[in-house]
Amino acid sequence: MKITFLGACREVTGSNFLLEAAGKKILLDCGIFQGSKFAEEKNFESFAYNPREIDFVILGHAHLDHCGRLPKLVKDGFCGRIYATAPTKELTKLVLDDSEKLAQEEARRDNHPPLFTQKEIDRVMDLFEAISYEETIQISEQIKITLKNAGHILGSALTLIESENKKIVYTSDLGNVPSELLDPPSLITDATYVICEATYGGRIHEDSARREQKLAEIINLTVAQNGVLMIPTFAIERTQELLHDIEHFCAVSNCEKPTFYLDSPLATKVTKVFEKYPEYLSKTLNQFHKNEDFFGLEHLQITQTHQQSEAIDELPNPKVIIAGSGMLNGGRIIFHAQKYLSDAKNTLLIVGYQPIGGLGRRLIEGAHEVKILGKNIRVKAKIESIRSYSAHADLPQLLGWLGNIKGCKKIFLVHGETDQMLTFSKAINNNLKIETVIPQYGERYEL
Ligand SMILES: [Zn+2]
Repeated sequence: MKITFLGACREVTGSNFLLEAAGKKILLDCGIFQGSKFAEEKNFESFAYNPREIDFVILGHAHLDHCGRLPKLVKDGFCGRIYATAPTKELTKLVLDDSEKLAQEEARRDNHPPLFTQKEIDRVMDLFEAISYEETIQISEQIKITLKNAGHILGSALTLIESENKKIVYTSDLGNVPSELLDPPSLITDATYVICEATYGGRIHEDSARREQKLAEIINLTVAQNGVLMIPTFAIERTQELLHDIEHFCAVSNCEKPTFYLDSPLATKVTKVFEKYPEYLSKTLNQFHKNEDFFGLEHLQITQTHQQSEAIDELPNPKVIIAGSGMLNGGRIIFHAQKYLSDAKNTLLIVGYQPIGGLGRRLIEGAHEVKILGKNIRVKAKIESIRSYSAHADLPQLLGWLGNIKGCKKIFLVHGETDQMLTFSKAINNNLKIETVIPQYGERYEL
């Protein structure tokens, strides 16, 4: 058995690992590289293997850095089966459709063919085979796989692969605990090798207990000042968590409420997928809040077209606008930011990771003036952030989860920046006494 590391090596994007077992070639995730221009160019390079020779793909979840190169894989000859849960299949379609539009725009701008087209997305969708959590299936005579809840986003799975008398576990991304919407990641008690994500392997998250209180304070302030609250958010999971918190706020608060706008067609579609699969939401939600409007859709104004989005401007304050992109690097939120950042009555609330040098990061760092869509804006609005919305386990959670595994010979760390990985690696060595490896791109290991 062999494993080759071909993405998310000492970085957080581009997850792609090739497992060779019992004469078969299996890919674990096939994501795009995101971030710098260099990273984006890597997506166009040929795969390090022949896609025609790949028998199966196991897809952990629907984030673009895990599923985004599937259309290219198909374009380059892959025609095997793709295993994932049913919600992952549906969310992957939405995410790929959305990025296809961006790929077209970018291709026109940079004068090269797009990474993929709708035709390849359709072919990807034909190759999916949806399986449920805890359902063990024999994908070949000598290989069994089981998907288990990873608690990261709806339908996210960690994979157990059994072959050649070994058990390999791949985490894809592991969720943060507690989550309002999802159950905690399933525990693994027995594995020979683990390929583990390390996004926050060197960090301890802010306590989530005060999150709802802080959100309520910021909404109430917006009402008191008759202002606008802008919340840039990711379409999958973060939006639904936020909507669930807002729903709770509306249910318990007796004060005057602003109008809430969900100004993201993608997030709206994603929320429908969440509603379609309540069995993938947490047991608590299903037990105690059955038949409730989990995402407070009755409190929301949902905008679809660009005209509707622009028309929000003419509607009276106080208002809360939830829009993408979560990293403020495009999408409708940019138009709202250009309009509203210069007014001291307004607030921008950051609930997600902001990359260095990006607009969101500069605002958090206190920039007085920013350029948005070619226009200089003097920043007078309040910039707030809630850091406890995270879909990734932190160091204590990762260690706790790994600590349940008996018989582990080696842990490979992926999907993290080098400093996070080094801290995580040391903590594993000290606390769990298990050998760790931080693979470089292209490295291959005998298991
Ligand atoms: Zn993810």
